[in-house]
Amino acid sequence: MYDLIIRNARQITGDVVDIALKAGKIAKVAPKIAERAKKEISLKDNQYLSAGWIDDHVHCFEEMTLYYDYPDEIGYKKGVTTVIDAGTTGAENIGHFYELAKAAKTNVYALVNISKFGIVEQDELADLTKVQSDLVAKAISDYPNFILGIKARMSKTVVGDNGIKPLRMAKEIQKDNGNLPMMVHIGSNPPELRDILQVMEAGDVLTHCFNGKANGILDQATDQIKDFVWEAYRRGIVFDIGHGTDSFNFHVAEVALKEGLKCASISTDIYIRNRKNGPVFDMATTLAKLHEVGYSWSEIIEKITRVPAQNFHLKTKGQIAAGFDGDFTIFEIHNDKQELIDSNGHKRITDEVIVPVQTIVGGVIYDN
Ligand code: ZN
Ligand code: ZN
Repeated sequence: MYDLIIRNARQITGDVVDIALKAGKIAKVAPKIAERAKKEISLKDNQYLSAGWIDDHVHCFEEMTLYYDYPDEIGYKKGVTTVIDAGTTGAENIGHFYELAKAAKTNVYALVNISKFGIVEQDELADLTKVQSDLVAKAISDYPNFILGIKARMSKTVVGDNGIKPLRMAKEIQKDNGNLPMMVHIGSNPPELRDILQVMEAGDVLTHCFNGKANGILDQATDQIKDFVWEAYRRGIVFDIGHGTDSFNFHVAEVALKEGLKCASISTDIYIRNRKNGPVFDMATTLAKLHEVGYSWSEIIEKITRVPAQNFHLKTKGQIAAGFDGDFTIFEIHNDKQELIDSNGHKRITDEVIVPVQTIVGGVIYDN
């Protein structure tokens, strides 16, 4: 007998299926499942179900003071079944983070900051003695089911006078550790975006892709996407939203879409302050913004399920198929008017929002 059957599960593509779970995993997906389960739920006709939402850029080590939050506050309570902490901690403190994260109901993973204490201070890459490849390698081997990759923050306030050098060190660490995923944060210059992109390779994740800064993807004089950005995009660099306090600009996202350049994955860069005071608030608000820019709901769902799972090698997440984890988000789409504000104070009024109503993590159901 199955543990759970989810009936009338309408996907955003329109397909309606029944899903049976056993021991926290998907056991069967079919148009109709005749067998019974210990527990059964049925979606209402106005509800949708997707694989559990994955937020690949958050900050949720609660003992940090600069950027911190609590995994469940930004996770299952917001419709997100899996969060990836993007470099809050480094080799010296990621073990402590791991111990705390284990208690969360939400799936928590981490990218280890190449700087050994992570973002204890804003300028973690200004002193390069903090980047010790042997320590990073040890952390990766100590926490193989927690650490998915590495993080390097490449902007002026973080790197001090070191220019592109920390990124070259990150690349070496990546190569020495089985070419694991790498996320690179961008912002103000130096280092120049052109130089950063030159070092990045296909599959590397560029977060804060639609920030509104002069050192971003948009040439502010011509109002066009910079040529070298197009070149990097075509080479296979992964463009990730990483909304954050300072890093999502409607106009940049709109120009990019008009030119045919789309983000690959959608993430919030959420932490307690931009969750409580905005402009992030939660994943659903970020999704409404991308929808307002012009992305369809079905491509939006791909960008928070299948795509991040693939980019960060989460082999049993992001899809609804037998053998995958029993992680789901049940949501509704409401025709409500809502004001949306980007990181630069620009507003858009949307008339369609996405509202998570239930989150299922490893077969356990939580109401939102
Ligand atoms: Zn960042
Ligand atoms: Zn961040």
